[in-house]
Amino acid sequence: MARTAPSETWGNSTVRTACPLDCPDACTLDVTVERGRIQKIDGGDDNPVTRNFICAKVRRFAERVYGEDRVLYPAVRKDGKGQGTFVRVTWDEALDLIAERMAAIKAQYGGEAILPFYYGGSNGLLTQNTNDAELWRRFGTSRLATTVCAAPTGAANLALYGKMAGVVYQDYPQARLIVLWGVNPSASGIHLVPYIKEAQAAGATLVVIDPRTTSLAKKADLHLPIRPGTDLPVALALHRVMFEEGHADRAFLERHTRGADRLRAAASPWTIERAAAEAGIDPAALRRFADLYVRTAPALVRCGWGLERNRNGGSAAAAVLALPAVGGKFGVRGGGFSMSNSLAFGLKSEQWLDTPEPATRLVNMNHLGRALTEYSDPPVKMLFVYNCNPLATMPDQNRVLAGLKRDDLFTVAFEQVFTDTTRYADVVLPATTFLEHYDIAKSYGPISLQLVRPVIEPRGEARTNAHVFSALAQRLEVGTEEEDIDTLLRITSRMPSVGAELMERGVATPPHDGAPIQFVDVFPLTADRKVNLFPEEIAGDAPAGLYGYQTDPATDQFPLALISPASEKTISSTLGELRERAAVLHIHPQDAAARSIAQSDAVRVFNQLGELHCPANLTPDVRPGTVAFSKGVWRKNTYNGSTSNALVPDSLSDLGAGACFNDARVQVALLGRH
Ligand code: SF4
Repeated sequence: MARTAPSETWGNSTVRTACPLDCPDACTLDVTVERGRIQKIDGGDDNPVTRNFICAKVRRFAERVYGEDRVLYPAVRKDGKGQGTFVRVTWDEALDLIAERMAAIKAQYGGEAILPFYYGGSNGLLTQNTNDAELWRRFGTSRLATTVCAAPTGAANLALYGKMAGVVYQDYPQARLIVLWGVNPSASGIHLVPYIKEAQAAGATLVVIDPRTTSLAKKADLHLPIRPGTDLPVALALHRVMFEEGHADRAFLERHTRGADRLRAAASPWTIERAAAEAGIDPAALRRFADLYVRTAPALVRCGWGLERNRNGGSAAAAVLALPAVGGKFGVRGGGFSMSNSLAFGLKSEQWLDTPEPATRLVNMNHLGRALTEYSDPPVKMLFVYNCNPLATMPDQNRVLAGLKRDDLFTVAFEQVFTDTTRYADVVLPATTFLEHYDIAKSYGPISLQLVRPVIEPRGEARTNAHVFSALAQRLEVGTEEEDIDTLLRITSRMPSVGAELMERGVATPPHDGAPIQFVDVFPLTADRKVNLFPEEIAGDAPAGLYGYQTDPATDQFPLALISPASEKTISSTLGELRERAAVLHIHPQDAAARSIAQSDAVRVFNQLGELHCPANLTPDVRPGTVAFSKGVWRKNTYNGSTSNALVPDSLSDLGAGACFNDARVQVALLGRH
C-alpha cells in the first residue's frame, strides 16, 4: 500500500507518537508541527509512567533532524577512506551498486563474506529484525550476535527466570528497601527517579552500588563505591549471610527453586570481610547492606547494565538476580527484582519472520575489529551498517578503524547523520528518524507498547529501513519491495491480541495492568516453572564456572580501572553529533595529585591497545583507582580522535559473550597544562 499524499492540513498539528530509542522508558510524545516543520517535542500527558516530561536529549532531537550533519541523499565515496567526501547519486544507482556488489561477493566468496552490522540506534520493532532479517537470511549472509549490551544480564535472566517480568517503576514506592545496582536512572531511564524519591519520602531506604557517587548515590542511605568488576563477590557475600546465618527462605527455596545448594557452595568462601576487601569497600558498610537486605520487606533490587560489562558480568547478574529468591522477597508488591521487561508482551521477532534463521557464520559484534582484520574463511568483504555507529561504540577501536580502512572492504552506512563510521563508507544511504516513519516502541522499563507515527515528511530523500531492505531484496530476487506502513500492517497482524488494538488506539493494553507482582501474577518461564539458581546449561560457558570469580586485570603498568557509563548527553552514541566541547576524563583528586595533574589539564590515558587525549576533571565522585569517560562519545570530542573504546579489550564476559567495557585498565599521565 503506498503512502497517501499529505492533505491540506498536514503540517499544522500536535502529533501523538512515542520514543522508540534505546532507553527503558518509551515516552509518549506530543510533537508540535507548524508548516510541516517540528517546533517542539514534549511529553504526552496521558502516559501513566512517563507522564508529561521527557529527557533533554530527545527534547532537542529536532536539531538532529534539521542539523547540518543530516544525510539527505544517497552518495558514493569520492576520495580516500576516512576523508568523508561523497558524490550524490540516485537511490536506484545506489541500490543497484549495492545489489551488484552483494551478488559479486556472494559468487566469489559466499554470502558469509557479507556482514550486516546493526544495534539499537533507532530501536523500534520495525527498524530491525523485520525486512532486513528476511534479506540477510534469504541471501545467506553472516549472522550478527548483538552482544554489545544486555547479553550477560539477558543470559542470566533467561537461565534463572526465563525472563520473567520484573517490578515496574510504579511499584517502587511500595518498597521499603530499594537497591540500585550498577544503574544510574538520572542518565538513562529518568522516569524511575520520581518513584524512587516518592519511596524515600515514604520512608524507604535507598542503597546504591556504583563506583561513582552519582546524584542518587548522594541521596542514598548507603553507597557502596565498589571497584568495577567486583559485583559478584559482593552479591555472593549476601548469599552467604542469608544461607549461613539463617535468613534464607527455606520454604520458598523448596517450592520454587532448584540449585540452591550449589549456589550456597559457590557463596561459601565469600565472607563479608573477603568480599569487602576484593571490592575495596568498608566491611562494616557491606555488613550493613546485608543486614538491611535480610531484615527489610518489601525489598527491591534494580539490576542494571553497569555490572555486566566485565569478565564476571554474567555470574554477577545471576548472583544479583538470585537474591530475592534466596531471601524470600517475592510475592508482595514492590518486592523482588527489576531488570528488562522487554518480553512482558511475549513478542518475539520470529512471530513475523517467514524465513528460518540459517546456520551461517555467527559473528560476535564485539569482535568487529577482529572480523574485519583477521577473518579469512571467508574474509569480510562487505560491511552493511545501520542503526549503529560502530567506530564510536565497539571495543578495540583501533582495530575497528584498521578494518574500516581496508581498500578491499565495501562498506555501506545507512544512517540519519554523518558519523565517525560514515567517513569510511563506500556508500552512504539517508535513513529516516523516528519522527519521519512508522514504528512500534516497546519499552523495557515500564510495560508498554505504542505506535510511533511520522510527524513530518522524510527530509531530503531519506527512506525507512523497512522500505530499503525490501527494495534490496527485490533487486536480489529474494523478496518484494514494500513501504514501512505495509510492513507495519503485516507485523501487527501477527501480534495476537495486541496488534489490532495497537493499530486502532496507538497503544496496547499491557498484561496485569502493566504492574505484575512477581510470584503472584507472573512466574518463571523456565521449563519447570522454577527459579534455576544454578543453571547447568550455562555453567559450562563461564571460564571459572558459574559464580566463579576472575580477578582484576590491573597491572602495575596499568593500574586504573577505566569505566564508560551512560551520559546525560547521548543515547548510547545517538546525538553525539550535537556535542561541541571535548569530553573529559573524571579522575579522583588523589589519583590526579599522584600524577601532578590539575583541574582541566590535558591528559594522556593509555594502555597496550591505544591512547586517548582529553581534559581531566578532578572529582571525588569517582572512587580512587577508577577513572570514568562517557559512553557514546564521538572521535571529534577528544584531542586525538580516539575515545575510551580505543582502550577497551575485545575480551568477552563469562556468560552471554558480552562486551567488557569496564575491564579496560589504563595509566594516566599529564599531557599539557590547562
Ligand atoms: S530517550 Fe528515554 S527519556 Fe528520552 S524521550 Fe526517549 S524514552 Fe523518554
